[in-house]
Amino acid sequence: MEKQEAKRLGHRLVLVVYPFQGHINLMLQLATILYSKGFSITIAHPQFNSPDHENHPEFHFVSIPDDLSKSNSSPSNFMAAISALNSNCEAPFQQYMEEMMKVEDPHDRVAGVVYDGFMHFAQAVANNLKLPGINVRTSAAATLLLFAVFPDAHHERGYISFPESLAQAPVPELQSLDLKGLLGSTEIPTPILELRATMTDATKKASSIIVNTVHFLEQQTLTKVQEHFPSPVFSLGPCHKLAPSASCSLLKEDTSCISWLDKQAPKSVIYISFGSMVRVDDKELVEIAWGLANSEQPFLWVVRPGSVRGSEWIELLPESFKERVEGRGCIVKWAPQKEVLAHGAVGGYWSHCGWNSTLESVCEGVPMLCRPYFGDQGLSAKYVCSVWKVGLELEGVLERGKIERAIRKLMVETEGVEIRQRAKDLKHKAELCLSENGSTYNALNELAQHILSFG
Ligand code: UDP
Repeated sequence: MEKQEAKRLGHRLVLVVYPFQGHINLMLQLATILYSKGFSITIAHPQFNSPDHENHPEFHFVSIPDDLSKSNSSPSNFMAAISALNSNCEAPFQQYMEEMMKVEDPHDRVAGVVYDGFMHFAQAVANNLKLPGINVRTSAAATLLLFAVFPDAHHERGYISFPESLAQAPVPELQSLDLKGLLGSTEIPTPILELRATMTDATKKASSIIVNTVHFLEQQTLTKVQEHFPSPVFSLGPCHKLAPSASCSLLKEDTSCISWLDKQAPKSVIYISFGSMVRVDDKELVEIAWGLANSEQPFLWVVRPGSVRGSEWIELLPESFKERVEGRGCIVKWAPQKEVLAHGAVGGYWSHCGWNSTLESVCEGVPMLCRPYFGDQGLSAKYVCSVWKVGLELEGVLERGKIERAIRKLMVETEGVEIRQRAKDLKHKAELCLSENGSTYNALNELAQHILSFG
């Protein structure tokens, strides 16, 4: 039925993926959502971290040569990788698009290029081909303003800085988050500022902007974003709820943890995962382990292979820890996270606060323990702890006593009651946004109309 609808509309969207897990997830969810609205879909992705085409026979996939190895930019050096992807993919993508448009079926015409904001070259290609570019922000709407507010990449000291005394100054445009919380640091290096400025330029040229956020979560900020950017902004979050079946994990999910969860008491388990990129050192691994053991709570812990510096996986964990937590703890390499967070046994999520994970937790009403590491994670943590007040932040050096106390406070103690109640309320509000005439439901229909209006 969806295929027939796609034929009826006769409009194809080309989606350009930024090849890291959280971004791939969002782009494939978006593809599924737009496909369900009747658009045909082409997914253009770099060769690096290619999504599995077989999971999505309904889409056409095209692999863009990225030359990442030749540019000497290891994918773990994000700034170099972003820069290489943008310079290396532009020409082959433009060539692919030109060839595709030459032989285009009049009943299957390209209606626009939908691109991850980090792949800003795609806006330039869209401009060259006189196609509408639709910019996708995979993190909070607040980051659109953040990137735009400090665009001066030519600061004389090579980075933007402000006195520590201003660090606590509230920024009313951004729901009164403080400056340091927003920027993550009081000093921002030039390459990051340059990237933010380039991304902001592309966003300003886009015909529309899609943000994976939920309107009520960032209401004030979204008003400011719309004042700042000329094109319409569509809040389509939480996308994972609109496209729950869009499977796109690069690592194999260990589903045995779901049977383990089935055996645990309701709301008793703390789930720990730091996403697809964060790495910890060996000391932190051991402190986390003992903090979990001493908290006496059951736990499900994702330790991604290669995420502990200097070791393959969990070889550094002492036998005494393993004996102490036997039956009470489950450690896996990669979990079916959305299913885990939706499981009745999970009562808390210790997270790095990647934006996808944050939304996934909010939508299941799971309170959070926040330990942000880099990028926009600090901003998400501020939202969780200071604005929505559905979590606690774990600050400073990671130490077992601190971890134990924080877990107990979040999960069982009376101090955490209000946090747990607010988390439940947020889940309910998010559900309303997805229902008929909710903000996300309406935004999706408006976006579809908007794309069709390009002609
Ligand atoms: N994820 C998962 N299994 C895991 C850990 C993470 O499926 O064991 C998924 C998670 O559901 C989320 C994504 O990986 O959709 C991580 O994206 P996020 O933006 O939270 O963090 P990033 O990995 O980009 O730092």
